[in-house]
Amino acid sequence: MQSACSANQSASAATVILERSQILPFFPASLPDESLASRVSRFHIERGNTKTLETYRELFGSSPFAMSNLFMPRIEALAKRMPGDLNVNVEKLIHEGTLLPITRLFTTSTATWASADYVRRSVGESGATRICLECIKEDVAQFDTAYLHRSHQIPTVTACWRHGWRLLDNCPECGCPIESPKDLTLAPWQGCCCGYQFELAEVESSAYVASSIEKDIARFANLVLAHVPKRMLAENLPRVLRERALERGFRWGAEKVDRLSLQAAMESYYSPELLARLDRAYAKGKTENWFHFLGLTKGAIEGPLNRNLLLANYLFQDAETFLERLADIEAQGPYVVAHEVPPDNAYAPTPVNRTADGVSLLVDRLAKIAIDQNLDISDLWRDHYGAMKRIAIAGSKAGIEALKKVIERRSSKLAKKLVRSSAKVHPRDADWAEEIKKTAVRLLNDSDRPMRVSMGSLVRNTEFKPAAWPDAICFPLTRAACIEFQESQWHFYARRVLWAMARHHGKVVARSLITEDAGLEHHRASDVYHYLVSLAVIPVAPFKKQLEAKGIHLDWSGPCPGKEYRKAGRGYQKTGAITAYVPPEFAGQT
Ligand SMILES: [Zn+2]
Ligand SMILES: [Zn+2]
Repeated sequence: MQSACSANQSASAATVILERSQILPFFPASLPDESLASRVSRFHIERGNTKTLETYRELFGSSPFAMSNLFMPRIEALAKRMPGDLNVNVEKLIHEGTLLPITRLFTTSTATWASADYVRRSVGESGATRICLECIKEDVAQFDTAYLHRSHQIPTVTACWRHGWRLLDNCPECGCPIESPKDLTLAPWQGCCCGYQFELAEVESSAYVASSIEKDIARFANLVLAHVPKRMLAENLPRVLRERALERGFRWGAEKVDRLSLQAAMESYYSPELLARLDRAYAKGKTENWFHFLGLTKGAIEGPLNRNLLLANYLFQDAETFLERLADIEAQGPYVVAHEVPPDNAYAPTPVNRTADGVSLLVDRLAKIAIDQNLDISDLWRDHYGAMKRIAIAGSKAGIEALKKVIERRSSKLAKKLVRSSAKVHPRDADWAEEIKKTAVRLLNDSDRPMRVSMGSLVRNTEFKPAAWPDAICFPLTRAACIEFQESQWHFYARRVLWAMARHHGKVVARSLITEDAGLEHHRASDVYHYLVSLAVIPVAPFKKQLEAKGIHLDWSGPCPGKEYRKAGRGYQKTGAITAYVPPEFAGQT
């Protein structure tokens, strides 16, 4: 009797271990405007998998497929491997990293969340991965890695909204597509199969400048994608476009849209060449029913995404006004009963009515979302505009106040729970800390090409792993060991440059060869190189020891602390002048 019971127990313990081991050790956090496909590629690289098959198995439990075919079941498989609530994870992955929010908005369709069509629809959507050469350079300088931008993958977008450069979907040298068929896209990180390195591209920018109209479309589409509220659907789109067209004077009789004038205006605004490139029906001369969907009948033909987007951009010119108008009409909601479906009910949308009961239900659901995702009232307005507006209208101010109270009450309960659990230090904490220290010593003294020693790489490279991640409550010693042995970015630069120097030790070579070999951001690497030379650091492994001998420790803050390096991103202003590199003078050196 007793043995049967204990066998049962160990069987259930085994299930728990199996489930836990499915949770990923890490998954790269999203960089600004990063696509989900890009995070998958970065996972593959940071994980150090040699075959993409391993990565697909680990993330999706499936064989390789094209990343532009990210269907719902695949996103769900990935979300299952992350800690936390499945539905919240799915929602977050979709809203942050896929094109679904914008395709859902611009593809007029009666498809609801529960429909098979939605499950079938690709969330990656575009089919050809595009990059901006200038973005890649800036991203490498700012984030130490290239990545794929979601805004570059929107259908009809042909330019980078930030730089105004034409987007590339193939290698400028050999024409090989950037997206590999049925596999991960790795070229932006690892280079093209022909050896072309995107981040090192020396290109004349004039060859890549897009037209101002293309930039315009890119800017509009990017803003819409970045600000479209979660779960806003397209039911009201034809109505919004139609009303705007009338407002702009494309009127035929009392309430009809003057389609011919509208088409002529679009042609002169975009040019027939560009329209032909972006709209297949237009290219084939099939413009008879071009704006048929602007009609008032229920059976109005669905407008394709490209045309809807071009029309919205032309009619509104301003993404904010466009989204506001959609939200207004959605709040009035005469066309459909409910647009807002809270995540925990994603596949069984229930109509929300405007009675007091409906409001309290909505308050409850939004409060749960707020707790799960750590949102405050202003976040809720941003992400759940329609539902918030409904609460505000139906329950007036009292409704919003009630929501605030519920959020406060629940989060204070949660805080108490966390305090209670704080005594739970894991029994293997000390063992893990020891193993982490061994890994650190091994990585820091390795003579191979140095990789940055961070908390992530220490955990990844340690075989012993009683949990997916050393959190502060259960693993205080492990965490302390990680913090003690992780190195600053500058220390990592010093080790990498020293490694590159070691490769050419005893030979006379140009500095540029060393910094290129190091594969780091050029200006920082050059300064580090000159500093190491000025200190006469010996380029022989173990590099950490050589650096220590000259007073360079793990927390080193660089050769010129306080120096402003080339800023990437929006703050970066091009001067147009190309200046030769001048090594800095180091204080106390001769
Ligand atoms: Zn760019
Ligand atoms: Zn190539």
